[in-house]
Amino acid sequence: MYLGSITSELVIGMGRDVKKNTRKVNRSSEGTNNAPYAKNDELNVTIDAIGSEGEGIAHVDGYTLFIKDALIGDEALVKVIKTKKSYGYARMEQILKPSPYRVEPRCGVARQCGGCQLQHLDYKEQLRYKENKVKECFKRIGHFGDEIDAVTEPIIGMEEPYYYRNKAQFPVGKSKEGKVITGFYASRSHAIIDTPHCYIQAEINDKLLEIVKVFLGEEGIEPYNEETQTGLVRHILTRVGFVTGEIMVCLVLNGKKLPNHEKLVKQLENIEGMTSICININTENTNVILGQTCKTIWGQDYITDYIGDIKYQISPLSFYQVNPVQTKKLYETALEYADLSGNEVVWDLYCGIGTISLFLAKNAKQVYGVEIVPQAIEDAKNNAKINDITNAEFFVGAAEEVMPEKYKQGADSMSADVIVVDPPRKGCDEALLSTIVEMKPERVVYVSCAPATLARDCRYLCDNGYEVRRIRAVDQFGHSVHVETVVLLEQKTR
Ligand code: SAH
Repeated sequence: MYLGSITSELVIGMGRDVKKNTRKVNRSSEGTNNAPYAKNDELNVTIDAIGSEGEGIAHVDGYTLFIKDALIGDEALVKVIKTKKSYGYARMEQILKPSPYRVEPRCGVARQCGGCQLQHLDYKEQLRYKENKVKECFKRIGHFGDEIDAVTEPIIGMEEPYYYRNKAQFPVGKSKEGKVITGFYASRSHAIIDTPHCYIQAEINDKLLEIVKVFLGEEGIEPYNEETQTGLVRHILTRVGFVTGEIMVCLVLNGKKLPNHEKLVKQLENIEGMTSICININTENTNVILGQTCKTIWGQDYITDYIGDIKYQISPLSFYQVNPVQTKKLYETALEYADLSGNEVVWDLYCGIGTISLFLAKNAKQVYGVEIVPQAIEDAKNNAKINDITNAEFFVGAAEEVMPEKYKQGADSMSADVIVVDPPRKGCDEALLSTIVEMKPERVVYVSCAPATLARDCRYLCDNGYEVRRIRAVDQFGHSVHVETVVLLEQKTR
């Protein structure tokens, strides 16, 4: 059975007994859409689950209320803001008894900013939530039983869940007083929240942003205004090589030139690690951050960084994992699950710039990588070259088209011992899964950023000859609701 696309909201309980809801206050009337509540009703609830976006969930006599900023275990007075027949949304009015897992967020704008949804939840509980989220997806969406608990290994958390991101894209705007500000978009909006310090980005960013802001102010260079489509500077992109210490600063412009850029370069070039200063041209009316053209105004076109022993060259447009410390752990888990002896043919599907492929190549006979973005494949080939890796070959195209084609043409030489997949959130195409089943690799290692589609695809593979042997989540994005997972599937022995 293939379950198709997954749209339903997934509700994750934390597996604890939580006091039963609820005492109602000020209940005005029933909703017009047969909902048991109407807008502006107030009620006391106990939060007993967390939604997929990190919002608190209360079940009140069978009716589900989603409450932003509420935490599992909170007892709260909430006000209904919108109702549908079987669920509704409410706003937190007052915390009557805080959850034992509630902590004071380090960041003063954590609540308004769209970046961190869970900073007010104790980090250990965040990890428990994420591990649970993966298991629940396997059970509810993949229709697996409790055997999933036995094959799930403990989530790999971060030692220090702060300052972990190596890439930041700050929108540039103006305050009411006309000062240049940088920060983040408010949740579900394009209003910029002035953020002098971000607790999950590289700390050097504060200094870089300050220099750019002072320069823009002194030169009277206008930030871009989305509504009027005027002004020049849209975003400031920074990248930092955590192993090499190399730094890139890239200004995204609604235009082709940055006036007096030499002055900015002078201020930035002496910062330790500065390696690349560039501009990116994006004159489109779009919320895509980067345009297709970059110009280097000082230094190299790229910075270099390592994951494990593998070196990667990263340009402004390259895809590169944002948490290199946890990425290494993620790839090591994938490598362990692939259990390579050096004689295997491995396919790495959705390979991006070849990060996993190159990680696997040293332990395999041959690796084939497939990726839909041509520029990423160029980067993958280049990365293989600078690492002297000769047993990795890369193909551009949709994995669900390229692999069946190559398999049919090449037959034996292309047959896979191990297949690794790392698809985007929507998961694997069914055509790809059916080719995997046809090719019968001994092991499939599934790396996923979306547990719901992961569980759906594992169900397909398990209905067609495979077994889930090991599952391990890795926290790549502390304080967000996102979680990466690695799964090992093997051919059924019985
Ligand atoms: N494995 C890489 C990248 C994973 S992100 C890493 O760890 O860095 C998923 C990748 O799948 C993206 O690079 C995206 O461009 C690519 N992609 C999306 N749809 C695809 C398809 N149908 N076939 C092949 N690649 C695809």
